[in-house]
Amino acid sequence: GAYLDYNATAPPDPAVRGEVAECLAEGWGNPSSVHGWGRRARSRLETARERVAALAGCSPREVSFTGGATEANNAVLKGFAWQDGGARTLLVGATEHPSVRETARYLAGRGFPVAEVAVDGEGRVTPAALREALEAHGPVGLVSVMWANNETGVLQPVAELAAVCAEYGIPLHTDAVQAAGKMPVDFAGSGAAAMSLSAHKIGGPQGVGALIRDARRLPVDPFLHGGGHERERRAGTENVAGILGFGVAAGLARERLEAAGAHARGLRDRLEDGLRGAGVGVEVVGDAAERLPNTSCLLLPDVEAETLLMNLDLSGFAVSSGSACASGSLEPSPVLLAMGIPSNRARGSLRVSTGWATTAGEVEAFLETLVPQVRRLQDRAVHSA
Ligand code: PLP
Repeated sequence: GAYLDYNATAPPDPAVRGEVAECLAEGWGNPSSVHGWGRRARSRLETARERVAALAGCSPREVSFTGGATEANNAVLKGFAWQDGGARTLLVGATEHPSVRETARYLAGRGFPVAEVAVDGEGRVTPAALREALEAHGPVGLVSVMWANNETGVLQPVAELAAVCAEYGIPLHTDAVQAAGKMPVDFAGSGAAAMSLSAHKIGGPQGVGALIRDARRLPVDPFLHGGGHERERRAGTENVAGILGFGVAAGLARERLEAAGAHARGLRDRLEDGLRGAGVGVEVVGDAAERLPNTSCLLLPDVEAETLLMNLDLSGFAVSSGSACASGSLEPSPVLLAMGIPSNRARGSLRVSTGWATTAGEVEAFLETLVPQVRRLQDRAVHSA
């Protein structure tokens, strides 16, 4: 078997595990305390902040640590809405992660003006579509469009979208959770005013993330009130060990960025070519768009993805159908529906995502297991039709 679900969560690197354990043993002070224990914890926290900033291409001052990217996305969207008092529209992409889309839906239910910008058939928000939405829903106060999609790996033209926003004087927030560590992400160069990151997608611990924000371009109300932690941006004693693990993972991801990209691209091409050669009628979602090197979203005709997922699990292979958060429900993925894929096709979607520890042998073994299982399900569908 093999773990091929890195977009759901990535296994922590041994160096991350070791340093988190060391921190819990020796670095457990409260970073706000003035004594030695506190100062040593503070120093670990600030080292992690520098490492995350280096991976993200921002200044350490712009990084506030959060309890994951779901919190970072909630914080920036709700913080904007509360600060703005509903004067201007919040515009979000049609294929955003639920932590953006459901937050927008909640705000709309509370009376805040919210709108969606559509994607094209490859899942991209084009600069023209953004311009059209800005004209239709103005005045817009914040735009949120992700860097890379978690289900399809499709990249958004973030810098071009930021340039359109800049013409209107509107800040852009981008959820870069899936892009960070898999491809170069440069906050300063992108033109975005805010960006969300998650530690566990790059091999750090779960429940840790960051909201990166240029406070001059995007003022927002704090999400959590209390002590003055994180420069008044996010109250609560910091998760020092978790944040330290985030920093170690960010450092490793930065060192490995180029090699990891080439490695993942090789595995992905082998997987997709192998499946295309198998004559099972596979379609690769977002094939014509720029994509993350590690992600394949595969549409398999006459296959119920949930059944295939369970069969693969019995054979020891971990993959995902649609989004991990939506599995368990048989609803087709809203991301695929937003791309105009019909729901019967969307029900046969399988997401395979690799990472630093995935080997070529694992991909071969996966193909050898997957192809006969797909054929069996397709035969059964044909016979019962
Ligand atoms: N945004 C994207 C694109 C994701 O893929 C995820 C994780 O599934 C999140 C946000 C949420 O991150 P977290 O698990 O840290 O809350």
